[in-house]
Amino acid sequence: MMDSAKMKEKISCCCRDSQAEFLNRAIHQLDLNAAQQQLLLQSFREVTVQIPLTIHSNNNERLHTFTGYRVQHNHARGPFKGGLRFHPDVQIDEVRALAQLMTWKTALVDIPFGGAKGGIAVDPSALTSQELEILTRRFVQKMSPILGVDEDIPAPDMNTNPQVMAWIFDEYSKSNGYAPGIVTGKPIELGGLQGRLEATGSGVAYVTAMAFKHLDIPLKGANVVIQGFGNVGSYAALRLQTMGARVIAISDKDGGLFHPQGVDIATAIQFVEKTGSLKGFADVEEITNEELLGLPCDVLIPAALEGTINCDTEADIKTNLIIEAANMPITHMADSKLRERGITVVPDILANAGGVIASYFEWVQNIQRFKWERATVQERMEAHLSHAYEDVHALAEEAGVDLRTAAYQLSVGRVLRAIELRGF
Ligand code: NAD
Repeated sequence: MMDSAKMKEKISCCCRDSQAEFLNRAIHQLDLNAAQQQLLLQSFREVTVQIPLTIHSNNNERLHTFTGYRVQHNHARGPFKGGLRFHPDVQIDEVRALAQLMTWKTALVDIPFGGAKGGIAVDPSALTSQELEILTRRFVQKMSPILGVDEDIPAPDMNTNPQVMAWIFDEYSKSNGYAPGIVTGKPIELGGLQGRLEATGSGVAYVTAMAFKHLDIPLKGANVVIQGFGNVGSYAALRLQTMGARVIAISDKDGGLFHPQGVDIATAIQFVEKTGSLKGFADVEEITNEELLGLPCDVLIPAALEGTINCDTEADIKTNLIIEAANMPITHMADSKLRERGITVVPDILANAGGVIASYFEWVQNIQRFKWERATVQERMEAHLSHAYEDVHALAEEAGVDLRTAAYQLSVGRVLRAIELRGF
């Protein structure tokens, strides 16, 4: 078994290398010069902060210094935008790669934002809610100079939720005045958007349905396998089941469940809400995450961590379609092998963009001091996803490239055009 430090290093290298390789494929198609390439590869700004916190456990007090990051990659098309992740494996290479990914994602779905990402290297489950609140507020105090409603707007990501966003909004507003637009993914009562919580997963399901349509296979009755049952995975599973698909396997960090007739997703969500894990869910076969990846299915949806489909796991995969609900779940080397095998991959910057589109609507709603209806949010989000999907598909066909290369080609072209027009 690989130790945690080696695992961290592996994830970080795989993110950095994969992001560079995917960008290189687009650069090759677009025939860019060295200066343009450097501009696209480098971050605009990278900030690392120390966050000291006294932790109480077993009647003991100890001081721990956490490290927080915010990487702003590019803001040619609008303010920096990107999630905030609380996870022990968070580190600068990974944050940098994810920030860059956000630049391509916002450009691809044509919303007026750039790309950023942030996080704290922490296991939030090891902290009390009060400790987590203090940690979040201290992070905001230290990052405040580079944040702003028209500068940089964080959002939820792994292990961060509407409550964390509410603390960010409150802490920032203390020194800057009432500013709900400083962060998206807030609770509805504080200016959050109807439908934001389920937007990413719901968008993943919508994109999956589009992929089935383009491949000319029926979604009704299709066998779906989903790795990761958090915000994205659970809502994607729920909506796909509503659309008539059969979700035969799901998993979280503790392992997976399999049922050939389909797992009851609504009950599984309630079970996780109550127990915190899928472990012990009744009337299903327990499987490992490795076994889950190797299940024969019509579509595989990785919705957990980066790099879970890599050179060690790629050969086991038995599907013709992968929808990247997580960010960077496939390493570039595994991606090349999947392409050689004729497996269609719908890339993350398209598949999970529903979340950032809804975040854009929330930001607009906050700036206008106005409330959007849930149905309007869903309809407009799907319109953005649909346009982006059709554009990517058409370019892939025309240029004879895979969907990821076409998606990068479109978004990199848009970012470069904005840079040229603005003249910096
Ligand atoms: P989450 O914290 O809500 O859920 C993560 C899930 O993955 C949990 O079920 C967890 O148990 C599981 N998991 C963790 N490690 C695992 C492992 N090794 N094997 C299998 N399962 C594992 O996070 P989320 O918000 O659902 O995000 C999931 C992915 O989607 C991340 O890559 C994130 O960057 C991406 N994403 C999230 C959003 C959003 O709006 N939340 C938007 C775009 C992309």
